[in-house]
Amino acid sequence: MEKKDNIIKLRAHHLLCLQGYQGYGYSEKFKENLEKKLNILKNNNTKVILTNSPDDFCEKCPNLKENICIKNSKSLNESLKNNDKIVKMDSAILKKTKLEKNKEYSYAKLIKIVNNVFSNKKDLKYICKDCSWANKCLWYTSREI
Ligand code: SF4
Repeated sequence: MEKKDNIIKLRAHHLLCLQGYQGYGYSEKFKENLEKKLNILKNNNTKVILTNSPDDFCEKCPNLKENICIKNSKSLNESLKNNDKIVKMDSAILKKTKLEKNKEYSYAKLIKIVNNVFSNKKDLKYICKDCSWANKCLWYTSREI
């Protein structure tokens, strides 16, 4: 599906991360892009299409190499494993929320849905468990136990 200019492409797990953002990031370029797009999402209630592949936030991330999320990987094998883990995280969120890839949603509606479905840490056991940001993430730490 071709993306229109006024639509933000978002991988499903970023619906969680964006809510917990408090200034940490992988590089200055990454943070600059994240903050710009997050402001657009919050202030204009922009349309979003969901994906389980690299999105408009990944595009400025130093961890994205040839469309693969290589975060903390030291070999191709590790990179592929890491990417697979991230895709599974996105897919688990899509499945649990019954949201669809490549369909337009309003950002505000998506936030309501994920916050309702994932209201406590138990629901996130298999999603956020390996995330290195979990203890700093304002959204994750705000979930009930
Ligand atoms: S490339 Fe990986 S680490 Fe970077 S924003 Fe995308 S999913 Fe996150």
